[in-house]
Amino acid sequence: MLVTVYSAHNFEIEYLEKENKQHQFRYITEQLSVKTAELAAGSEAVALFTQDDASALVLNTLQALGVKYLTTRSAGYDHIDLQRVRSLQIKVAHVPAYSPYAIAEHAMALVMALNRKLIVAAARIKQNNYCLDDLIGFDMNGKTVGIIGLGKIGSVMAKIVHGFGCRILIYDVAPPVALEVPVEYVTLSKLLQQSDIISLHAPLTPETKYLINAESIKLLKKGSMLINTSRGGLINTKDLISALQTGQISAAGLDVYEKEKDIFFRDLSDKPVTDDLFAELKSLPNVLITGHQAFLTSTALQNIAETTIYNLDTWQNGGTSINELF
Ligand code: NAD
Repeated sequence: MLVTVYSAHNFEIEYLEKENKQHQFRYITEQLSVKTAELAAGSEAVALFTQDDASALVLNTLQALGVKYLTTRSAGYDHIDLQRVRSLQIKVAHVPAYSPYAIAEHAMALVMALNRKLIVAAARIKQNNYCLDDLIGFDMNGKTVGIIGLGKIGSVMAKIVHGFGCRILIYDVAPPVALEVPVEYVTLSKLLQQSDIISLHAPLTPETKYLINAESIKLLKKGSMLINTSRGGLINTKDLISALQTGQISAAGLDVYEKEKDIFFRDLSDKPVTDDLFAELKSLPNVLITGHQAFLTSTALQNIAETTIYNLDTWQNGGTSINELF
């Protein structure tokens, strides 16, 4: 079938092409939006990415154009209005797990880069400056790491930090699961109060929106580190900036940002920064930001391509994908 692939990135096309045996892909570099939905004309299926806008109006247009299937090349699906998809009788599937290791390992890379001041240290070496002042880190061994959301990625994160000799606190709304490493299930407030490092691995939902805000930040152990590789909307960025300025939070490692849709995944180096909040956030010395790249390993890209093609092949053959969202 003809598939319109929105937000097509150079880094993923060769993986999709290698796996695809029976579909015709129309690659569109632009994001799906009210303005670009018409570009799907003639397609039976649309392949999305996290930056795409599959809200009600856009879905109405897609359905009117004859689109029957939506597959998102991501685990998260907060960019899709599932209720509207259901009422329009469009089938929708995602990639539930492509590599929880990729994301958890990136979260750990953020922790260690911040802890051991790797960015500043590397810049000094380039400048022939071998002074070690202000580069003091801390031993991970014995520190308490709080993991919010013990799903696929949070579980890998728990194993990784266990390897560093950390005590692990977990907050999750789901019942406890058996893990290979010792963890303590606690309330959200206990996790916030006792953790030296907090790593967010819960999805963005109405319940998790701004989970980290001025009120919850007050509960934090002073000087704790915050890591977010989940979704930007879990953090109220304005409140985070204030906490980073006062030292309530000593450092933040962020792979996601609440308004990243208009910034990430493109080269804006010759454009002025128009998002003042983001400009302020990235100017802080104790912040390390990556542009939603935690998933970006060859293993993950291969798995995303395989599952996306599996979803499309199954629909083409009249079947039901195991990755359908309802
Ligand atoms: P998962 O569904 O396996 O796990 C999510 C966990 O969060 C579950 O255990 C769930 O019970 C828990 N949870 C749900 N609501 C909660 C709440 N209100 N409070 C506490 N815990 C709650 O998902 P996953 O595969 O581990 O992925 C987690 C998130 O990571 C995704 O939703 C996605 O947003 C994000 N993600 C980011 C990237 C990236 O490149 N940065 C890549 C993949 C996924």
